[in-house]
Amino acid sequence: MSKTYTGGCHCGAFRYEVELDLSSKMATKCNCSFCLKSNFLTLPVPGDGSQFKLLSPKSLDEVGDYKFGSKKGSHFYCKECSICLINKPPFPIELPGSGGKISMFINAVTLDQGQDVDLRKFKIMYWDGKENNWAAGLKEEPYSGGCY
Ligand SMILES: [Zn+2]
Repeated sequence: MSKTYTGGCHCGAFRYEVELDLSSKMATKCNCSFCLKSNFLTLPVPGDGSQFKLLSPKSLDEVGDYKFGSKKGSHFYCKECSICLINKPPFPIELPGSGGKISMFINAVTLDQGQDVDLRKFKIMYWDGKENNWAAGLKEEPYSGGCY
């Protein structure tokens, strides 16, 4: 049920294509300091990241890359309009219920409209990233410090 979707930032400088299986109609949020403040609506991209293709600019070196904490994870954003599109952990991580190793996360709200993606129909589940407690899994309600 994988399908290719397009997405991008607000001004159009940062564009991508990604192959995702959205049949579960589920997205996640996390209560970590970054996800909370950016209200990042997370869709995992399973595998090694080859399902993701950057359309513009030519390289991720040309977009903003915000790093914090260990400075190993990347949060790629458009330098022009500031929208954050991608959260990339330093190495593929195993998340319970996410279909294997995850190499990157897409901000679901950056998917283009009109591709049969109705985010109103998505169920949002919550991680406890703030406590680094990924093993606790997804919950129906935000963990402490998170928001709906
Ligand atoms: Zn932009």
